[in-house]
Amino acid sequence: MRRRILLGVCLVAALGLVGGCAGMDYTSVANIALKTAPKVAAASRPINDSEEYYVGRAVAARILSANRLYTDPQLTLYVNEVGETVARKSPMPNTYKGYHFAVLDTSEPNAFACPGGIIFVTKGLVLMCGNEDELAAVLAHEVAHVANKDGINSISKARWTEVLTTLGTETAKQYGGAGGQLVTLFEGSIDDVFKTIVVNGYSRGAEEAADAQAVKTLQKAGYDPAALEALLTKMASKSGGATGIYKTHPPTADRLAKLKSETPKGTPGKMEEVRTKRFQSIKM
Ligand SMILES: [Zn+2]
Repeated sequence: MRRRILLGVCLVAALGLVGGCAGMDYTSVANIALKTAPKVAAASRPINDSEEYYVGRAVAARILSANRLYTDPQLTLYVNEVGETVARKSPMPNTYKGYHFAVLDTSEPNAFACPGGIIFVTKGLVLMCGNEDELAAVLAHEVAHVANKDGINSISKARWTEVLTTLGTETAKQYGGAGGQLVTLFEGSIDDVFKTIVVNGYSRGAEEAADAQAVKTLQKAGYDPAALEALLTKMASKSGGATGIYKTHPPTADRLAKLKSETPKGTPGKMEEVRTKRFQSIKM
């Protein structure tokens, strides 16, 4: 019971949102980044793991400013256990501060992968899943977006170069990194990521790569690799319109055809029945 309670609050604590404030202090983000970033004058290095985490945390806070968490401890624990199971078999089993999975209290099906490993799935998408393997498929796909750095790579290269240049200046040092320019640059970086993962969606290539990776991860984790295809087929048959997951991860005919060609044919393991029963006993 204690572990469940801890997991229930761990995401909120991880986001520094204890006290119930979901707003993001960009000055803090800029300061933390300044402390953790090497003081380099050359503005050419890629974003490092700690910077990726802090940008991801700010993006997660922005998502939580518009969506409530679904705080049921049993469901939160279950989603974290399934998520950790697939993350361990992914190409990036560990991140700077680990993976955190949480359910958003909204009926619109969707899922978001924040840079660094904070992953949200909505109650609507959990309800659309017919079994644990389909839930694992959603989470494996989102873990693949984190591993492929699809969110963090949406930060404009010109903006990141400017962040690094500013971090290296005497002005940034004098003002503890919290100068207005640096805060504005971090806000812009967070905007870039937010627009990709919440508003506009990923490129077709990024979606297809995450699908292919998810199939491999499912297979390695002992789940049915055809579960992603089953869920996407279900999504494609529903007229979801251009919102939610239909917009950010569109289940297009091309995407489905590619996924089908990459999914190994096999019979579901005998544990599938056990997993489905477990899923049904947890589902809201
Ligand atoms: Zn996707």
